[in-house]
Amino acid sequence: DEKTSKYDLAVIGAGPGGYTAAFRAADLGMKVALIERYSSLGGVCLNVGCIPSKSLLHIAKIINEAEEVHQFGVEFSKPQLNIEKIRKWKDRTLSELTDGVTELARLRKVDVFHGTAEFLNSKQLLITEHGSPHQESTLDFEHAIIAAGSRANKISHLPDDPRIIDSANALSLEHIPDRLLIIGAGIIGLEMAAVYDALGSKVTVAAKYDQLIPECDGDIVKPLYDRIAERYNVYLETMVSKVVADDAELTVHFEGNSEVPTVQAFDSILVSIGRHPNGHVLSADLAGVYVDEAGYIPVDSYQRTNVNNIFAIGDIAGKPMLAHKAIHEGKVAAEVIAGLHSRFDATVVPSVAYTDPEVSWIGLTEKQARSRGVKYGIGVFPWSASGRALSLGRGEGKTKILFDLVTDQILGAGIVGAHAGDLIAEIGLAIENNIKAHAISSTIHPHPTLSETVAFATEVFESTITDLY
Ligand code: FAD
Repeated sequence: DEKTSKYDLAVIGAGPGGYTAAFRAADLGMKVALIERYSSLGGVCLNVGCIPSKSLLHIAKIINEAEEVHQFGVEFSKPQLNIEKIRKWKDRTLSELTDGVTELARLRKVDVFHGTAEFLNSKQLLITEHGSPHQESTLDFEHAIIAAGSRANKISHLPDDPRIIDSANALSLEHIPDRLLIIGAGIIGLEMAAVYDALGSKVTVAAKYDQLIPECDGDIVKPLYDRIAERYNVYLETMVSKVVADDAELTVHFEGNSEVPTVQAFDSILVSIGRHPNGHVLSADLAGVYVDEAGYIPVDSYQRTNVNNIFAIGDIAGKPMLAHKAIHEGKVAAEVIAGLHSRFDATVVPSVAYTDPEVSWIGLTEKQARSRGVKYGIGVFPWSASGRALSLGRGEGKTKILFDLVTDQILGAGIVGAHAGDLIAEIGLAIENNIKAHAISSTIHPHPTLSETVAFATEVFESTITDLY
């Protein structure tokens, strides 16, 4: 059953990178094929990543806040959780979005193929549809964009056991274990810890580094640590050396930190130790596309691979593995193919952990500035002095901005506190457009908002500088 079709552009993978590229290319007049191996469009982000995790974190936040407002004299009774309904609500959010992507593809006349794509050469793909029987077809393209994403890393020495899960399983909420161990204290592990803690699991987080979210500054993650360590076990500098699975439980052996029990039993283990790119499952070599050992496909600032008509975007094209980076790159690749003067020239990509409190950072961290010998100044505004933060009962936050001492240019920032993820956007705008510290501090920010903490942090820096001269 062979059919052949010819397209200006074939996009492999319908995650945020892929669908953005396909839609932009269609808007620019190209005939576009979007190929996705799963029945639902939207990739990891919409199906098993950003969106379902945020729906569940919203529920976690409501549960925690209802518990905490007793300090303000408001008592709620213990929440009754209907996991079935929670799951349905989460699934409804994501299917609204994935159906929306399907509809947008239809409106733009992008042809969607449900099947696994592999390269036959630099001009043709083989698409295998997973119906029964499997159907194969060939697709001819002028240009291709590889947007095949990434998948969760595994720990090879753990037993093969259905109770040892990854973030996609965890988000399906099939089972709320009594005792859950999360290995890894990066963004995803900590977000899932917040969800399962709120849903009633006794959570333990174990990570090999000496702080949560190691790429972020220690002072920025400290308020998060202080808060979660009150609620559940956080074992830092701890390695899982062995897991023994029997019918009743998973017995975990820890090493590396003498303050941590050497053996502890759990009902489930979520492995959250990073993700690796899908570069090795596309027969990219048949098209001559270079894939590095880890599975990344290196690209230039036009998102072009070593093969002229083939581009790569999103998680498969390099770190940071974030949806907004994939989206930006998707737009760039489509525009370059259409002949527009577009390239990836973003200076910074923001990162956010949607934990409680949220943690966000952008540009240089203080750690990086120090290790690179950058002469930086610093403006810090503690949220204990923010009227809005205190009125939320959350004065533990902090806004920290790094400046170049000579040029007053903003180099980076770290924020911890409610809505830190929203607040970092203003600093991104400033860095990308070379807006200096004094321009932020002299802009009237609405009072009382958390956005004032950004202005106050620049003001603190300005006044320190004035003192210097
Ligand atoms: P993906 O979204 O991975 O999509 C790739 C698509 O390609 C998949 O649908 C896959 O099925 C398909 N595919 C692969 N190979 C083939 C093939 N051979 N043929 C056909 N189709 C193929 N990022 C954020 O910015 N914010 C967040 O809050 C956030 N939360 C996250 C939470 C979790 C639990 C996880 C796991 C990730 C989260 N991320 C978040 C990361 C984000 O999901 C990814 O960075 C983003 O999805 C990458 O987009 P992409 O387009 O590169 O690839």
